[in-house]
Amino acid sequence: MHEALFYIELKNKEVSCHLCPHNCLIEPDHAGDCKVRINRNGVLVSDVYGRLEAMNLDPIEKKALFHFYPGTKILSVGTAGCNLHCSFCQNHPLSQCGVSDSKAQHFLAPEDLVDLAKQTAHNIGVAFTYNEPTVNYEFMLSAAVNARAVGLHTVMVSNGYINPEPLSSLLGPIEAFNIDLKAFSPKFYRSYCKGKLNPVLKAIKQIAGSACHLELTTLVIPGLNDDLVEFEHLCKWIANETGSSTVLHLSRYFPAYQLKLNPTPAETLFRMYDLAKNFLHHVYLGNLFAGEYGDTFCPHCNTKLIERDRYRILPVGMDKHGACEHCKTNIIKHYLNEYDHS
Ligand code: SF4
Repeated sequence: MHEALFYIELKNKEVSCHLCPHNCLIEPDHAGDCKVRINRNGVLVSDVYGRLEAMNLDPIEKKALFHFYPGTKILSVGTAGCNLHCSFCQNHPLSQCGVSDSKAQHFLAPEDLVDLAKQTAHNIGVAFTYNEPTVNYEFMLSAAVNARAVGLHTVMVSNGYINPEPLSSLLGPIEAFNIDLKAFSPKFYRSYCKGKLNPVLKAIKQIAGSACHLELTTLVIPGLNDDLVEFEHLCKWIANETGSSTVLHLSRYFPAYQLKLNPTPAETLFRMYDLAKNFLHHVYLGNLFAGEYGDTFCPHCNTKLIERDRYRILPVGMDKHGACEHCKTNIIKHYLNEYDHS
């Protein structure tokens, strides 16, 4: 256990947590909405500090990041807990439990995680993922600062449900973000995630306004967020607020947790892809074997730059700096040419 950041003590030993937009008011011996930040006698503590439930060396494409050191691998870690409660969560055994229901596999200090990451062959850094990393804020921040100090890269895969001040301290220690933009509807966020849309949009704009790398993911769920009018608003918002070069991943839904609908039809994803391409340069389809829908093209001359086969990449029209070989436009700004992509 570790004392939390971003809280204030109130009267009668109640505390108020300001890490995320829930701004929970927490009585002594109770947890916040995320289940892992607990009021111990007027002190808010993180119950998941150093308690890692999952750790794997994953392809960076699995995060999903397609324009941040494509073809590399990254040591990925997650804990229990989440500050949203999506009925379709693909990782609910981790995200929807507190530490009392969990079986932590690894107990590590932030610097031990960084040492391990450094010693792991073919690894470019540390990714905070699987559950919502915001609820493990203190450990993540400390590990990310340590990781950057020794030249490792850092990634956060998040629902974007975090307040501006804590997010601001992550911009830099964390270099690249994949943020879920689950729908462009406050009602969807309220009904299916138990959260609000606006704070997520605010966080996305804040990251886009920094020097950090940003990609977005929308899990397309049939009948819930696949309305083309709503989706056009989402694409326009991204193009206007974060720029048309922002990468958007459209991921196919499969039944999970409490939501048992049929998987998203491939045709729905193709239609949404075509619509998104009117506004955004780089759109990818995920969870679907879809030929060139996972490949990267130069938006200026349409040369194919990267061919993808699931998580394997083949640079085909790109120079060693990540620029298009044909028109020289720099597309992949973070690229390790010397990495073994085989
Ligand atoms: S991080 Fe957890 S305790 Fe803090 S406001 Fe969000 S849900 Fe509540």
